[in-house]
Amino acid sequence: MVAKRWPNGVTCPNCGSDHVAYLENARLWKCYGKHERPKFSLKTGTIFEDSPLGLEKWLPVMWLLANCKNGVSSWEIHRGLGVTQKTAWFMLQRARLATQDPETGGKLGGEVEVDETFIGGKARNMHGDVKARKIQGRRGPEGKAIVAAVLERGGKVRAKVVDKRRKSQLQSLVRENVEPGSALYSDALKSYDGLAGEFEHQVIDHAIAYVDGQVHTNGMENFWSLLKRGIRGTYVSVEPYHLFRYVDEQAFRFNNRKLTDAERFDSVMSQVVGKRLTYEELIGSAERSSSPN
Ligand SMILES: [Zn+2]
Repeated sequence: MVAKRWPNGVTCPNCGSDHVAYLENARLWKCYGKHERPKFSLKTGTIFEDSPLGLEKWLPVMWLLANCKNGVSSWEIHRGLGVTQKTAWFMLQRARLATQDPETGGKLGGEVEVDETFIGGKARNMHGDVKARKIQGRRGPEGKAIVAAVLERGGKVRAKVVDKRRKSQLQSLVRENVEPGSALYSDALKSYDGLAGEFEHQVIDHAIAYVDGQVHTNGMENFWSLLKRGIRGTYVSVEPYHLFRYVDEQAFRFNNRKLTDAERFDSVMSQVVGKRLTYEELIGSAERSSSPN
């Protein structure tokens, strides 16, 4: 892991200097630069920062999240690793941050599908207060959350949680992620009207047929079924304000589907640096988004 994080030699995460010394007994490095907190570890500046848990607990979590097709529940981590379920849940949310798409791959092109779907857990499985919040919370039709995505056929998906199926939201997702001039396929939702000027836009009206030659959104349907299987089967229910983390997780596995398990693990581990999620941030953001504004 040291070699992977610092292939050209260890540098200080704080100032970038390579003038550092390894302190054998403390298993820390010390930077000679003049700044606060000169000592650092492999975990400093990563999603593992300040975690009291060792890498012997963290690495199996990263492996499972990268490779279990339907996701991995905090209860499984709790039983398998001997940490509390609450700790396991926090570990998984931090691990999901590492799966977030760095969007370094540029825009999608060629044949691209755009689609959106509703996601909502069944109320009977929810804990009382969660249920109350969920029913009161402002969400899509019938209390469901909305995920929109664009998918390059044979390539990557970019998926995000949106609050409405408005033209502005769906079309900006397309414009931000798809190369102009690409072939674009969608269903007959009115919000996609007006994209034909910039894209080779063709519509399949699901009231009439699901496939018309090349014109279909079956690639997106495949991604939705993977996402929903994970959320319904493994996680039972996901609160809407955390939904994007599960979308990131599924998109990561989908986008790296052609890799082996070991390569996928390598890939998620290469995305742990420069990201942090504290428990306060995780819970704080939940409280903010569930308030009426
Ligand atoms: Zn330094």
